[in-house]
Amino acid sequence: MAARKEKTFRFVIVGGGIAGVTCVEQLSSQIPSADVALITAGLHIKAVTNYKQVSKTLEEFDVEEQPSSVLAEKFPDLTIIHSAVKSLCTQSHSVETADGRVFGYEKLCICGGGRPKLLNWDSPHVLGIRDTDSAQDLQKKLSRAKRIVVVGNGGIALELVYEVEGCEVIWAVKDKAIGNPFFDAGAAQFLIPSLQVDKPELAAPCKRTRYTTEEPEPGASHTFTADRNARRRGSGPTEAGSALGPDWHEGIVLRGAEQVSRRVSVEYQCEVEKIFTSAELLDSSQQTIGAENGENEGSWPVYIQLTNGKTFGCDFVVSATGVVPNAEPFLHGNNFALADDGGLQVDDHMMTSEPDVYAAGDVCTACWEHSALWQQMRLWTQARQMGWYAGRCMAAHVLAEPIELDFCFELFSHITKFFNYKVVLLGKFNGQGLGPDQELLLRCTKGREYVKVVLSGGRMVGAVLIGETDLEETFENLILNQMDLTPYGEELLNPNIDIEDYFD
Ligand code: FAD
Repeated sequence: MAARKEKTFRFVIVGGGIAGVTCVEQLSSQIPSADVALITAGLHIKAVTNYKQVSKTLEEFDVEEQPSSVLAEKFPDLTIIHSAVKSLCTQSHSVETADGRVFGYEKLCICGGGRPKLLNWDSPHVLGIRDTDSAQDLQKKLSRAKRIVVVGNGGIALELVYEVEGCEVIWAVKDKAIGNPFFDAGAAQFLIPSLQVDKPELAAPCKRTRYTTEEPEPGASHTFTADRNARRRGSGPTEAGSALGPDWHEGIVLRGAEQVSRRVSVEYQCEVEKIFTSAELLDSSQQTIGAENGENEGSWPVYIQLTNGKTFGCDFVVSATGVVPNAEPFLHGNNFALADDGGLQVDDHMMTSEPDVYAAGDVCTACWEHSALWQQMRLWTQARQMGWYAGRCMAAHVLAEPIELDFCFELFSHITKFFNYKVVLLGKFNGQGLGPDQELLLRCTKGREYVKVVLSGGRMVGAVLIGETDLEETFENLILNQMDLTPYGEELLNPNIDIEDYFD
């Protein structure tokens, strides 16, 4: 990086997603005279609005995609630079942007987010959903589609499969049950009937974080079928960059070319063996599932062979197999310690292994010794918490003040919505890392609620609450105070006991 520094800022934050913007806000409010620059690839930023602390660790907020001028108005001393960081030189404390400018920093925070793990980058028939552009691309392609294959079992796949209408969906999941990162097989079983019924005409009151945008420019398998007659709202935005957040599909019509029904077939315990064109299919001896049902071989634009031996023709494949940290632009010439998942390793002060370089959000991997009840998941809430805490640490370090790991990293907690149910996840909700030393208590009312409590040594260490259970605060307290619940046994989930009063 030979070019001269145009300017050196005290703090430079890279990335206008939730982590970066929250970090900027925190720094700018804590040190009003701070010389802060935000460098971001897109024209828009993500802002947290209507933030609400629901309980000690649970939080809810809306996310708005806003022009960056809104942030500039709020913090007049903030400098916003619209360009991607092309390279970083930690030795000279400088970054170079795609438009050839070089900026110095005293302290840097990398909040570059993640990028989708795509199955096959070369095929025009494989889509990944990451940002608003890719969501619009999906919408456009879907409007002409009769069958798609969705690969992946995380939050994005769950939402997509539920939202798509008017198009047959083959859903390939590598696990024994849907939604594996979030649920066990019991919860998956509770949710699966939702794929068989019509979606509500109007969205039910939605408490989750909401994503809003500006007006746009233009093996074993289960099969479920349901007639549909749904109406969707207007369409989505245009700028690229930040990850979409919860409700990314709201405001985007996810409707295929078929007028009749929602049809979802789940292919369990399989991954993608191969993706090929119709010409390649015709050259091979491959038999497709469609051909067995009378379809003309080679009539679909793309074919996907799964490891369970089945081959499906479809209009396109959606790769919803998660994201990888977007650390690449920052690595060359530097000595960052990387975690196994490719994230920039950060310690309990959000510091990377390079001096004066912090990282927050999807790009980083939390490598401090975690509390027994917390784990990192690349979710919106954690991006906000990390950005906020990184800002506090950067400020504390320049002010030479002590700072301790924030309480929000004490207990994993997440509120979201899947298949129109409120979902609350607490602590080791799937018994993560507990091995055989765990006991589960379950309460389930079909179509209404699913409550799972994870106990270890008689103490509550995690919970999954689906539906309007109203149990989150009490369970959060029981997890945090680690009270011995052995005397209560199964009474803990007795629906006739007001548990809130009980432990008051
Ligand atoms: P991002 O929001 O990705 O922001 C990264 C920023 O860095 C962007 O502004 C980008 O332009 C900028 N940038 C990247 N590279 C550079 C560079 N070289 N130079 C300058 N700027 C750069 N989470 C939930 O909690 N609930 C959900 O329901 C949910 N649904 C999701 C659905 C989808 C489709 C996706 C993709 C993600 C979803 N997530 C969800 C995850 C959530 O959106 C992310 O965890 C969160 O947005 C991460 O925030 P971030 O600030 O770290 O990164």
